Amino acid sequence: MHFADFHRRSIAEPESFWAEQARLIDWHKPFEKVCDYSRPPFVHWFVGGQTNLCHNAVDRHLKTQPDANALIWVSTEVDKEIVYSFRDLHAEVQRMAAILLELGVGQGDRVLIYMPMIAEACFAMLACARIGAIHSVVFGGFASHSLASRIDNARPKVIVSADAGSRGGKSVPYKGLLDEAIQLAQHKPAKVLMVDRGLAAFTPVAGRDEAYAALRAKHMDAQVPCTWVDSTHPSYTLYTSGTTGVPKGVQRDTGGYAVALASSMKHVFLGNAGEAYFSTSDIGWVVGHSYIIYGPLIAGMATIMYEGLPIRPDAGIWWHLVEKYKVTSMFSAPTAVRVLKKQDPAFLKKHDLSSLRALFLAGEPLDEPTAQWIAEGLGRPIIDNYWQTETGWPILALCNGIESQPSKFGSPGKAVYGYDVRLVNENSGEEVTAPGEKGVVMVQGPLPPGCMQTVWGDDERFVKTYWTKAGDRWLYSTFDWGVRDADGYYFILGRTDDVINVAGHRLGTREIEESISSHPNIAEVAVVGVADQLKGQVAMAFAIPKDATGLDDPAARLKLEGDIMKVVDGQLGAVARPARVLFVTALPKTRSGKLLRRALQAVAEGRDPGDLTTIEDPSALQQVKDLVAAK
Ligand code: ATP
Ligand code: MG
Repeated sequence: MHFADFHRRSIAEPESFWAEQARLIDWHKPFEKVCDYSRPPFVHWFVGGQTNLCHNAVDRHLKTQPDANALIWVSTEVDKEIVYSFRDLHAEVQRMAAILLELGVGQGDRVLIYMPMIAEACFAMLACARIGAIHSVVFGGFASHSLASRIDNARPKVIVSADAGSRGGKSVPYKGLLDEAIQLAQHKPAKVLMVDRGLAAFTPVAGRDEAYAALRAKHMDAQVPCTWVDSTHPSYTLYTSGTTGVPKGVQRDTGGYAVALASSMKHVFLGNAGEAYFSTSDIGWVVGHSYIIYGPLIAGMATIMYEGLPIRPDAGIWWHLVEKYKVTSMFSAPTAVRVLKKQDPAFLKKHDLSSLRALFLAGEPLDEPTAQWIAEGLGRPIIDNYWQTETGWPILALCNGIESQPSKFGSPGKAVYGYDVRLVNENSGEEVTAPGEKGVVMVQGPLPPGCMQTVWGDDERFVKTYWTKAGDRWLYSTFDWGVRDADGYYFILGRTDDVINVAGHRLGTREIEESISSHPNIAEVAVVGVADQLKGQVAMAFAIPKDATGLDDPAARLKLEGDIMKVVDGQLGAVARPARVLFVTALPKTRSGKLLRRALQAVAEGRDPGDLTTIEDPSALQQVKDLVAAK
């Protein structure tokens, strides 16, 4: 089948198209209406239908492949590896579900999950889905302040947590942060369920904290049937990364999400039941929800949940796992690949990767040098894809499961089926259609199954934040800039708030970054707009040199800075030339590898960077502070 026809039908005949995709999952009660878009921009998928995410991820595979691998938990932090078959997983999830029920959790109640990458986190997510509770996973890297604001927003009845995570062989205690967060929060959970890994000592709070091991022992033979819920029943909430602002609680449904995942596993991620999938993300992010836990399991695949660094015990650990478990599809992020890029490329060649169909990358722009390095090193296809916490599954990708299509460097591919993607001129609000013309990437409503239903508890914020009405059409904004070429491939140019305005010229920071990166001695660079009395804004670049030898000499720095400016002049024109290029050894990033542009810009302008709880390495921002102060 041609992808173009597949896509066309998804937009022109969404009812029959999605009814067909809906057959990929089990329904307890068939739906009466595929799509209810009577109250735009809100949409309800598979109205009247009843199903359950956990049933689709676990129970339904018991009939066909009970002994197949389901969850493969690998920790190079505590040197353990446990393989759970679907039968094992079914038993563990029922135990967890019985515990949650005992702790008073019912349908529609929220359960906040603040956990490291351990199997119990997976059990907890699936157990919530099983009993119709709404989980809200908060990334383990968040400290008490961020956690407290999420507790207040989600108002969980129970919090599931653990004594500690581990990073690089050192334990990272969670319990103290959690206690502090609960203290800070207005809302108090009734119970805290503690998984004790024996990594960090803690004192349970009497009457509130419960020990998972003890309760599990009590429920070894638990049989907890799936609660059938409406297709539109919220399955979970998840907060966006907060790269650009206050995180929003993205609310997802049940039926539409299950269908979108089942469909994308097949058409985008090339997965089949009985095979193995490995996503290197974290359950705290949307990739972890869709493509560590739910997607692969719904597809009947084994999923690898990995606790550890990509370079410990050595930089070959991922490829060792691919070989060992015959992984067919892998999912990671450019930032993680850049970590490997600093290691010996021989590690890419040490293992048999013949099972691997492709490595999928998403989360941030995939720059050409990184893409090329990993593609050549692995000798396997690298497939970029573009989406958001809000959408839950790719907006732009190559749906090679339908029709094999060539990749283009720098492009995450074409509009995925179900997404009616439009490029819109920000100023005029007019759609731009000519190849190569820039616009804001928007999706004409209704959003396809699997995307966010609303902002948790705040319908008004959902409409106001994301939607624009144009006549009788509603357009969802991704807040990213893009262009489309004549073949329908999109290129993401950056976030709409990454645009800087130099003397009336609007410039994408991404374009300037790409240009600077093409200098042979630049490993990575971030460009931000900084207020300037004369020009309104000027571009300021913070660059990591590949080879910093000799750069403690101010003259050498000035020379490199001048060379870089010449590169930008030549490629983009003098208007895009950064006012300064300052050299650093690290850039401020979130734990998920996204550049903290907001903080970088604030510091570059001498302002307070605000909430920094998601920052990976605070010293990176300190370097910038020092440089700006010395300027
Ligand atoms: P917040 O919305 O709170 O500021 P965030 O946008 O970083 O946080 P996510 O939903 O995790 O949170 O990230 C989605 C964004 O990541 C996209 O809107 C886009 O800017 C970027 N992105 C994701 N995948 C790609 C890709 N393949 N190429 C380019 N950019 C990407
Ligand atoms: Mg966003």
